[in-house]
Amino acid sequence: MTYKSMPKVELHTHLEGCAPPAFIRGLAQEKLLDISGIFNSDGSYAYRDFDHFLQVYEAACTTLQSPQDFYRLTKAVLEQSAAHGVVYQETFVSPDFCGGGDMAAWRDYLAAMETAAHEAEAEFGITLKGIATCIRHFGPDAAKPSALCAVETFGDFITGFGMAGGEMAGRPGDFAYAFDMAREAGMPLTCHAGEWGGPDMVADTLRDLKVERIGHGVNAIKDVNLVAEIADTGVTLEVCPGSNVFLQATGGWADHPIQKLRDAGVKVTVSTDDPPFFATTMTDEFDMLAQTFGWEDADFKEVNETALAAAFCDDATRAKIAKRLETA
Ligand SMILES: [Zn+2]
Repeated sequence: MTYKSMPKVELHTHLEGCAPPAFIRGLAQEKLLDISGIFNSDGSYAYRDFDHFLQVYEAACTTLQSPQDFYRLTKAVLEQSAAHGVVYQETFVSPDFCGGGDMAAWRDYLAAMETAAHEAEAEFGITLKGIATCIRHFGPDAAKPSALCAVETFGDFITGFGMAGGEMAGRPGDFAYAFDMAREAGMPLTCHAGEWGGPDMVADTLRDLKVERIGHGVNAIKDVNLVAEIADTGVTLEVCPGSNVFLQATGGWADHPIQKLRDAGVKVTVSTDDPPFFATTMTDEFDMLAQTFGWEDADFKEVNETALAAAFCDDATRAKIAKRLETA
């Protein structure tokens, strides 16, 4: 049994982190860049641990140098996602990696991604929305121009604001200015927390950044009161079990807290994060959840609906995707 063809809603991916290794190798060859050291002999990405993963990720990103590269990247990523049944995907994109925080350059990059997204929608039947992100380990001052880029381009394609990068850099409150700016512009918000940080990091993120979604959030499980609060307030967790297991942010599949969180009434969703880096796909995630926790069609239907309800998109898009989930 495989869940490959079941329609899926995925909220937590990083665009560059979804880059198929063959695509990155091809770009490197075109640009005469030698990044052969980041691949295994079978062609997959090679790294030792989380810090080395960040280095390999950055090396792969050196091949992505222009809006045209991001156009091609977006097409390649969406073709892959659609092959695993994803009908709606949200992806983090950072002004820092798309024009270095320059507003005009950022607009050019976004235009290229949006064109690719529209083409992919027609060709592969997948809808993509972008969440502009600041990068936590670049610091609070760098987050401000990123938030400004997000606010200025908030619309059809950029539909939310968030924060990615090294979770242990600074405290959530250090980034309140950027999140306040985005919130005041009406942008929905998400932030990585509780992947490496403890429940205190999740609690501080909710208190200081007032986000409606948390990226990962799995370490909330270590504080029963916090879990109850998350369930009560209806904050949605973007859970990425395969990523957590691969990076050893949690124990193995059997110990992963997704089921306990769900049992406690927390709104959980399922995503791949950086699928080729973590040797996963949405099909693998669904298959492993079925094998490990006995999830069946009704469970997957529920997480899809939870994800769609928490999606950062307009109502027309939500209705269109809901129809595709119903008719499947
Ligand atoms: Zn992530």
